[in-house]
Amino acid sequence: MNDRNRKSPKRAATDLNTILRTVLGEERFPVDVEALAMEVSRNYPDPITVVKGVDIDGFEGMLRARRKKPGWQILYNNEERYRGRQRFTLAHEFGHYLLHRKPLTPADYRDGELPDGFDFECVPMQSNQWKDAEKEREEEADTFASYLLMPIDDYRKQVAGNEMSRALLGHVTSRYGVSLTAAARKWIEFTDRRAAMLVARDGFVLWGRASSAAFKSGIFIPSGTPIPDGSVVAQGPVGQQSQSDQSVGVPAGVWHFSRGTEPVRELSVFSERLGLSITLLHFENEDPGREYDDDEPWDTYDQFVGPR
Ligand SMILES: [Zn+2]
Repeated sequence: MNDRNRKSPKRAATDLNTILRTVLGEERFPVDVEALAMEVSRNYPDPITVVKGVDIDGFEGMLRARRKKPGWQILYNNEERYRGRQRFTLAHEFGHYLLHRKPLTPADYRDGELPDGFDFECVPMQSNQWKDAEKEREEEADTFASYLLMPIDDYRKQVAGNEMSRALLGHVTSRYGVSLTAAARKWIEFTDRRAAMLVARDGFVLWGRASSAAFKSGIFIPSGTPIPDGSVVAQGPVGQQSQSDQSVGVPAGVWHFSRGTEPVRELSVFSERLGLSITLLHFENEDPGREYDDDEPWDTYDQFVGPR
């Protein structure tokens, strides 16, 4: 697409949400991405004509150019263990369509078949698997998907200023039809609280992210950080505290951050299927020394670092 005329990923998603709200009202969730992608793309000479689940291990999603005439297909993995991520993946591919595709015309098919090089093959929300060249594009598609599926104004209403609990996470994941990881990460992005999330496997942090307020107060959780003894997540899925609906108080001395240790309230959710834990850390006190810088762009995933 022409970069100068291109909308930002947030803007493109927000504009679609405005239309959806007008047509369907406040209870329009979860967003039917397939129907939306087909409907919106009908206005272009190279529409999305097929949205299809495929069953290929390790495959996540793809925006594929049609080989014989101008048009596109969205392919996604429909295996059981990918189910929670499907809607996000569809939205991610739809994002590539709106933001990044080269519009196809009959001239591209002059030799009877489209040459290679138009497709997008993706691993949404897994920045540690992105190559540098595709990083910005993939981030943009993720941002588009996140804002399309989970508009912040609606999400704020659902949370209503509360601390994140297991029940509230369950509510938003089913309202928006997204994975726990996607829902938790979105909350970390917009919450005004000092909070952080981390995804861990085999006793080590795969990636972590702090809310804006927490990050500015010196909270940063690099990938590769060992899970500390005494934390809720260290107890594993059968630990009594890890079953609690509300986050559990953990004293100072367990979790350490760049500026030292402090008490946290911890909520850990385990996915046996994925072999992962997702942990939310809520910090007790607002940091008196922090300074807000509201101009700082916060939609880049600059805190993500791949596993070492
Ligand atoms: Zn992609």
